[in-house]
Amino acid sequence: MVGAMKSLERLAGAALLCAALLAQHAGDGPQPTPVVPATFPGQPPSDAIVLFDGKDISQWQYKDGRAGAWPIVDGILTCKSGTGNLYTKRRFGSAQIHVEFAVPYMPDAHGQARANSGVYLQGRYEIQILDSFNNPTYSNGSAGSLYGQYAPLVNVSRPPKEWQTYDIVFHAPKCGADRKLATPGTVTVLYNGVLVQDNVTVKGRTTSSDDTDPCEDGPLMLQDHYHPDVKETFMQFRNIWIRPLS
Ligand code: MG
Repeated sequence: MVGAMKSLERLAGAALLCAALLAQHAGDGPQPTPVVPATFPGQPPSDAIVLFDGKDISQWQYKDGRAGAWPIVDGILTCKSGTGNLYTKRRFGSAQIHVEFAVPYMPDAHGQARANSGVYLQGRYEIQILDSFNNPTYSNGSAGSLYGQYAPLVNVSRPPKEWQTYDIVFHAPKCGADRKLATPGTVTVLYNGVLVQDNVTVKGRTTSSDDTDPCEDGPLMLQDHYHPDVKETFMQFRNIWIRPLS
């Protein structure tokens, strides 16, 4: 009799556990939105906004609104030094961003003067582009840094002229109803597929950025780091896309 009671208790316990598991996994939320992944790594998935596909820069402009004039040669966007930074016409907040770039070979330049550019998130926060292959500089100014704030976790730079990738996840700052900063932004960066910024908290806008409102969406910006001693940098870009994260 005692044995039978224990068996019944075990059965009841198992039934309760099953019910709990079913409730946990049944869920009542919507199914994830279908997205078709790219055929090749780095290419845009089906829900990405393609910002540069090798054909034109109609989605880009200079700060004053003039049409961007960086040349496209063989599908590659090349920074025209001295003409200015290039901004997307559209503005973005939190987003996943993919950028491919190749830095020029500049053996006569050193440190920050060697192939300097950058990807500015919300127009305010620079993920530094630099030739950091055998080119020491201050660590939080090297390639893959959140400029002036966080050095990359590792130096995974390829040699100049080789294509490299940034895959960035940016969570924009959040502001309260009083328009004051409530939650700072965060950034995660994979550089050539390797984690170099691990969900770091943005401390504020980076040097050389525009003093825009952190409570508002901003453009993605590619830096023309013009330097009077280095008149031509020939920074190259291709395959740029973004997925806004609402
Ligand atoms: Mg820079």
